Amino acid sequence: MARTFYIETFGCQMNVHDSEKIAGLLLSSGYRQVDNVEEADLVLYNTCSIREKAAQKVFSRLSQFRKERGAGKLFGVLGCVAQQEGEQIFEAAPHVSLVVGSASYSRFSELLAQLESGQRRVAGLSLDTEETFETEFTRRDNPFRAYITIIEGCDKHCAYCVVPFTRGPERSRTSQSVLQESRRLADAGYTEIQLLGQNVNSYRDPSSAAVSFAQLLAKIAEVPGIRRVRFTTSHPRDFTPEIVDAIDSHPVLCNHIHLPVQSGSTEVLRRMRREYTREQYLERISWIRRAKRPISISSDIIVGFPGETEANFEETLALLDEVGYDSIFSFQYSPRPNTASLELEDTIPEEEKGRRLRVLQERQRNIQLGRNQTFLGTIQEVLVEGRNSREEQGRTQWKGRTTQNMVLNFTVPDGLGPVPSPGEYREVQVTRVGPNSLAGEAVSGVVVRSSRKYPESQLRVL
Ligand code: SAM
Ligand code: SF4
Repeated sequence: MARTFYIETFGCQMNVHDSEKIAGLLLSSGYRQVDNVEEADLVLYNTCSIREKAAQKVFSRLSQFRKERGAGKLFGVLGCVAQQEGEQIFEAAPHVSLVVGSASYSRFSELLAQLESGQRRVAGLSLDTEETFETEFTRRDNPFRAYITIIEGCDKHCAYCVVPFTRGPERSRTSQSVLQESRRLADAGYTEIQLLGQNVNSYRDPSSAAVSFAQLLAKIAEVPGIRRVRFTTSHPRDFTPEIVDAIDSHPVLCNHIHLPVQSGSTEVLRRMRREYTREQYLERISWIRRAKRPISISSDIIVGFPGETEANFEETLALLDEVGYDSIFSFQYSPRPNTASLELEDTIPEEEKGRRLRVLQERQRNIQLGRNQTFLGTIQEVLVEGRNSREEQGRTQWKGRTTQNMVLNFTVPDGLGPVPSPGEYREVQVTRVGPNSLAGEAVSGVVVRSSRKYPESQLRVL
């Protein structure tokens, strides 16, 4: 009987996609995937350590299976916590027999073979690599959006961040390999691609073609069958006007840029080692605002970085108004191992950090409500993701996503074509808006049908 594995993923989209590739490797070597620990012979946790709370989650999971519930199973810790804690995990959780950081995933099959041959403890923890993790077979969990990692690791060393210590040095895939994967995905019926990297726009093509990030975007946009291309995350320091030009010239490139600012204060940015000022950041925003079509902008913000004064925080609030973000991810500063900011005195009480976070989120909520009003009455093309559990005045409600990556829930009036099916594109008129989503009614039949066949399990009610 085939051996079985269960994989649980914490953290960012890069982790989600790494898990898809690990699952692909395991399936191609004869394992069968199961969706609970009980049925699994091999249990893998792909972990995140960006903030302390995220890192703690895996140890709480592992403790659930320490005794008889884990008997006869092999446990593995992958990803950022694996890299950060290293072989100490074997001491803290003796039932773990595999510890692999993401920079060693290209050796995953070899490490798995050691484990299968009966080795009690196997670790892959070297950060000294120029390789990227490429697999022939990826088990894609997201039925609509296919992820492609174009760059791994990070060389930036922001003062608060563990990523350079957990994911190793920056290394890009060749443009040929990225394009080949894009074509394969289009042939498999995917219409939306999302390029991934800690800093996608720091991409440096290692091949002699020396394609820039903006040129790579244009080339992927020209792959027949691809209707939407997204990319995340862009680093403000490496953001160029050519990226906006590429979006202008290729409607397939989505109207959305995630450009994390972290703080609106130049003084805080300098202490964070972000390598740009508030003014330089705003200059990039002005390039985006000059685009021929409106591009939605989102950001990441950290409140309570060591030494952040009330005045510094006010500058961040003012920046929210000035930029007019369509969404943000906001975090309280969390001290992380090895990082430079541990040297800075962290005197802001946790309650004050919490207060700043709430004030920031409230301000952003109002900005979003205002911005979303501008969508009222407009017609947006959505990629249909599925059926909502909630009904709208007795009618089935469907969930779609706009090019700006906003959720647009919609109903279909009688007589307007077939019932929507996941993966197709429809036009929807926006009739109501909230701070986090839009609602409306379909005004077209199918614009583009999907050639992909979605397995029943992926057509769950959302
Ligand atoms: N490379 C991206 C950039 O530079 O914008 C960010 C990638 S990081 C995985 C995602 C986000 O986590 C960051 O943008 C930052 O807002 C947040 N983050 C990272 N370290 C943090 C820390 N120590 N405390 C709180 N938030 C943190
Ligand atoms: Fe972390 Fe800074 Fe690298 Fe982003 S650029 S991953 S925040 S070190």
